[in-house]
Amino acid sequence: MPTLDTLTTYAKSTGFIYQGSEIYGGLANTWDYGPLGSLLKNNIKKAWIQRFQREFPNNVLLDSGILLNSNVWKASGHIGGFSDPLTECESCHQRFRADNMIHEHDSKVNPDGWTFVQMDDYIKTHQLACPNCQKKAFMPIRAFNMMFQTYQGVVLEKANQIYLRPETAQGIFINFKNIQRTTRNKLPFGVCQVGKAFRNEITPGNFVFRTREFEQMEMEFFVKPGTELEWFDYWKKACKDFLLDLGVNETHLKLEDHEKEALAHYSNATTDILYQFPWGFDELWGIASRTDFDLNAHQEHSKENLSYLDPETNERYVPYVIEPSVGVERLVLTFLNESLVDETLESEEIRTVLKIHPALSPYKVAILPLIKKLHKDQAFEIYQQLSKSFDVTYDDTQNIGKRYRRQDAIGTYFCITVDHETELDQAVTVRHRDTMQQERIKIEALESYISKLIQF
Ligand code: ATP
Repeated sequence: MPTLDTLTTYAKSTGFIYQGSEIYGGLANTWDYGPLGSLLKNNIKKAWIQRFQREFPNNVLLDSGILLNSNVWKASGHIGGFSDPLTECESCHQRFRADNMIHEHDSKVNPDGWTFVQMDDYIKTHQLACPNCQKKAFMPIRAFNMMFQTYQGVVLEKANQIYLRPETAQGIFINFKNIQRTTRNKLPFGVCQVGKAFRNEITPGNFVFRTREFEQMEMEFFVKPGTELEWFDYWKKACKDFLLDLGVNETHLKLEDHEKEALAHYSNATTDILYQFPWGFDELWGIASRTDFDLNAHQEHSKENLSYLDPETNERYVPYVIEPSVGVERLVLTFLNESLVDETLESEEIRTVLKIHPALSPYKVAILPLIKKLHKDQAFEIYQQLSKSFDVTYDDTQNIGKRYRRQDAIGTYFCITVDHETELDQAVTVRHRDTMQQERIKIEALESYISKLIQF
């Protein structure tokens, strides 16, 4: 598997991910997604929407605002409580997340749910050293609120203060009533949302793993109280299957169930799916059974009735909810890490190939005229035809072998070569990325041939 350095260099040099604000010297830990990265992100989102929304009857989409009434964050507990435990080295004054330091010291210890005093004690008794200067004295832990603040309107005063959302989930809860009323969906049903979230992280890093601006894909799946643990298991499996079906090796995944004592106060079951990133296993996806905590909190603060009338039993209750939540960028890193290989061919030549699931390939097809002067027009016609259905690229520079290698390296699933026979037999040579095998296919059959082989 590639190192983090290899991945970063690869992503920058191919056009997946660039450093943010690069021509101005950059802005720490910000990243821009280039031509290939944008396509990859879109494909990841499409696959997620397909699995979590489209294929599940009654599941629907939502696109709520990034800016919400501040009372949303009071009700959700983010204004009072959305903070990380911040500790500071007394010598070099670098700041760290105390919970991460503890977990990195002993991966069996999970300090979620500990008090600051418990964390302070642990750091002292286990003599944890500053990751920067190795000294062992830290300031007392304090809470650091991670919400980005800004102001609405022209006057920068407290009354106008608002926040960039730190998660997409609350937009779903506050629309529960709207969605239920307008769709008339019966429980259970899920609401899926993809969108930006912002957290003023203390220690961003590891390339795009932890950033202050990122995209989440979250679903709130509303269920009848008492059935939540069955659904929790169902969605936990669906999340894992999503990764396996998109080519993640099962041995690179670990499901970590939170111990009872480590559960957030509102949750009766939580599992993290960990992936083996280049620096070790780390959280990719969180799945939580959140009871009726969120809807109740919004009901209380907004004074709106957010209960549901069960048409079968005539009971009225506040639904329970299962929440699988994953970051798009962590999936980008996962799929690149999983797919980038250097292969030694029979000729002993090394071929770099991104063996990513074709549904995620930035380009499904590259159209390559064998000789630019002779085959360009026909190649372009095929480009126009296929680009109505797929992301297609076109390349007519350098020899065909070099063009194949370039496409392999960015994960393009098929290379289509237009040659002197094409005009005669109305067919092209289709080369497969992973096997490098070639076959002759009629132009009119290309679309259905490709569709079948890239399906997710
Ligand atoms: P962590 O412990 O890694 O900070 P978290 O437990 O705070 O993550 P959640 O609040 O459960 O994360 O968010 C759900 C998902 O959103 C995470 O599993 C992750 O995939 C993604 N995510 C959260 N924070 C970030 C971030 N700063 N950068 C990129 N992705 C993130």
